[in-house]
Amino acid sequence: MRKIIIANWKMHYGPMKAGAWMRVFRRERLPKDIDIGIAIPHVSLAAARSSIGRASVPLVGAQNVFWQNEGAFTGETSPAMLKEFEVAFCLVGHSERRFFLGETDEMVAKKASALQKTGIQPIICVGENATEHKKGEALKVVKRQLLSAVKGLKGDGETAPLIAYEPIWAISTGKQASPCSPHDAKNMHEWIREILEKKFGKAGKNIRILYGGSVDPHNVADYLSTSHIDGALVGNASLDPQAFGLLCRSAVTA
Ligand code: PEP
Repeated sequence: MRKIIIANWKMHYGPMKAGAWMRVFRRERLPKDIDIGIAIPHVSLAAARSSIGRASVPLVGAQNVFWQNEGAFTGETSPAMLKEFEVAFCLVGHSERRFFLGETDEMVAKKASALQKTGIQPIICVGENATEHKKGEALKVVKRQLLSAVKGLKGDGETAPLIAYEPIWAISTGKQASPCSPHDAKNMHEWIREILEKKFGKAGKNIRILYGGSVDPHNVADYLSTSHIDGALVGNASLDPQAFGLLCRSAVTA
């Protein structure tokens, strides 16, 4: 399976900084045998897109979407609007949106389905918080989030979903050794794969499962060389374009 690395800028970089980031990143030597994408704030999509031009790397993605294509939904952005920027993928259900914006499993499911109908790949984020982790509820929580999000989706074709397992207790720790080791992540990824295969049959084998949580240039190879880990979602370590370029190169030295 071809690996994929997605940068999640979160709420960083307006149009000017996004354009500058892309211009620096495009000078980086990048591996050809992995996919690379950047999840960009909506207001910076145009600037990023124009700095990338016709180049196919990196893929342009978004961090959020609404589930209707038009209407009285003040402040929201529709899948059709994202499509105008040739957005290839969009994150849904990131833990920060679930926590700060009150996104429910049901809302995540509607967003994922609307994206797929518009021809955009949803990247569905799932993961347990520290309390759930300590109580031994991780498998149960992730299963609930995942089954709800993929309920109305098809598992194959160009808009097949990607899944990002992001244990909330391992996000942005600033530590080189993430508290969720590659081995811990692998166990959860195996569980996710089992659920996907039950839901989608053969197509469930090909859905890429990314790990996210304090991935950096020093540890990325350890994650990506571990079985069942098909890619990484990278927050903090994607904010510097040269460091992110190094991370992408380090990913393939495994
Ligand atoms: C994220 O929040 O999506 C993430 C992976 O963040 P970080 O890499 O900073 O842990």
